[in-house]
Amino acid sequence: MSDQSSAARTVLVTGGNRGIGRAIAERFIAAGDNVVVTSRSGGDGPDGAYTVQADVTDSASVNAAFKEIEGKFGPVEVLVANAGVTKDTLLVRMKDADFQDVIDTNLTGAFRVVQRATKGFMRLKHGRIIFISSVVGYTGAPGQVNYASSKAGLVGMARAVTRELGSRGITANVVAPGYIDTAMTQELSDEVKDNYLSMIPAQRFGHVEEVAGAVEYLASDAAAYVSGAIIPVDGGLGLGH
Ligand code: NDP
Repeated sequence: MSDQSSAARTVLVTGGNRGIGRAIAERFIAAGDNVVVTSRSGGDGPDGAYTVQADVTDSASVNAAFKEIEGKFGPVEVLVANAGVTKDTLLVRMKDADFQDVIDTNLTGAFRVVQRATKGFMRLKHGRIIFISSVVGYTGAPGQVNYASSKAGLVGMARAVTRELGSRGITANVVAPGYIDTAMTQELSDEVKDNYLSMIPAQRFGHVEEVAGAVEYLASDAAAYVSGAIIPVDGGLGLGH
């Protein structure tokens, strides 16, 4: 059994300058890994991370970011596809662009980084992919036809990657957070927040560190035989789905 945990790994977290991605980056930094975060805006990641500006909707930008990372730290060994956006509106009002923009960032954006990272994984015969999906990907939510479709798509992507690359030491898993206290959820109205709280068995929103813990596990040696799985971090909100 290989022991990857003793050496610093190169970890890439997309959208690691704030929210959940930032907490994930902090967790890997604390473990002594070489951590690179991308942000669309160029906003810096946490102390100890190397930040690269990259837009996951643009393949050339993703490719340039990987070249920079590989030049500095060698191939990426752990990829956390976390960058995501919402553009909520009811189905009848949803414009093509509202749907396409969310898919292009959340789903096709993940495809772009996974495809690029896989070149290095295949050379290394080792790689960990963790997709940040959402409970909404399997429960659905009104006003989120675009977002729910994109997050459900990540499950299919993880499972297709597992079937295609599982024999090469590569795992692909999904973390599905429920309602986590970040800028994305702070935008919700009090009415919507109270409604969700009433449905969450834990009776509270989650913390970014709780999502980071699940990601850390999936990237660890302990999870070498876990692939195509979904770990919910949702206080029980998605129970039964
Ligand atoms: P934030 O809105 O706080 O952060 C989103 C991150 O994604 C930012 O770093 C942002 O970069 C980056 N990003 C957005 N678009 C692009 C793009 N085109 N290219 C590159 N980076 C981009 O979100 P959260 O931390 O709340 O969410 C992180 C992930 O977790 C998302 O995928 C979200 O869907 C998912 N999630 C969140 C939940 C929650 O309750 N918060 C629940 C379930 C899932 P920049 O700052 O530069 O714009």
